Amino acid sequence: MFNEIAENIPEQHISMHGVSITIKRLDLVHPAISGNKFFKLKYNFIEAKNLGYSGVLTFGGAFSNHIAATAFAAHQFDFKSVGIIRGEELANKSLNHTLKTAQEFGMQLKFISREQYRLKDSSEFLANLKQQYPNYYIIPEGGTNDLAIQGCKEILTKPNKHDFDLICCAVGTGGTITGIIEASSEHQKILGFSALKGNFLTQEVQTKTQKNNWQITDEFCCGGYAKTTPELLAFMQNFEAKLGIELEQVYTAKMLFGLSQMIQRKRIDPSTRILAIHTGGLQGRLKSE
Ligand SMILES: *Cc1c(COP(=O)(O)O)cnc(C)c1O
Repeated sequence: MFNEIAENIPEQHISMHGVSITIKRLDLVHPAISGNKFFKLKYNFIEAKNLGYSGVLTFGGAFSNHIAATAFAAHQFDFKSVGIIRGEELANKSLNHTLKTAQEFGMQLKFISREQYRLKDSSEFLANLKQQYPNYYIIPEGGTNDLAIQGCKEILTKPNKHDFDLICCAVGTGGTITGIIEASSEHQKILGFSALKGNFLTQEVQTKTQKNNWQITDEFCCGGYAKTTPELLAFMQNFEAKLGIELEQVYTAKMLFGLSQMIQRKRIDPSTRILAIHTGGLQGRLKSE
């Protein structure tokens, strides 16, 4: 399943303020699934299968693209799946679109309090889970681990590594950009647009790569995770109307908004050959009732 998908990702050429940009449409991988999450899950599922597990278990918030993607991949791979969801108050509410999708793919949802959720990486919490779910392979929140980075290296095809000078992508936990950095050529620069405020992601990615042909900026995070500004929303609306490419406001709109601003302010040479990775995430914006 994974290999077929990786080899057939469409690329689309657009123009922004007179500069041409190629958009790599990971969003077209599947209507419900974030494209980059597929790459992050690939080697984790292969590992889980090799180790003889019969299920996967992971963590996320109520709108998590990673939760939806894991449920879908588990369904495809004939794995059982458990999602530990932040917020016990959600247990008594009707499910939003993300969680409904996950449940439809067979994921068992378990709601825990925010206090408990904060402890999810502690050895005690994990030991407890392992006891409760002995045959489940545990994937961290957001899906980022070494196997995820290995999978994200495959986002770039061979031509992608020659034909572009600048590669742009949205950054959440840093797993996706780390894979892209690791796969990139020496002459390329990788620019990450953080969806979160602060420069901790730069420090995080620094611990995972020896390369230095990259940079992560939070200049266009619009105040922080899932926050928006009227400017961002106007950009997104205009972009969608003009180009017919859907975005969501948490990741991809911020990346393209940032890129557009940099081009407009002449911070990027117009002759730069730019590849922008559309990482998907559209399931979260479908219906969030
Ligand atoms: C998860 C996600 C990201 C961030 O990926 P990381 O590997 O966590 O940095 C970017 N875009 C979309 C649409 C996502 O769902």
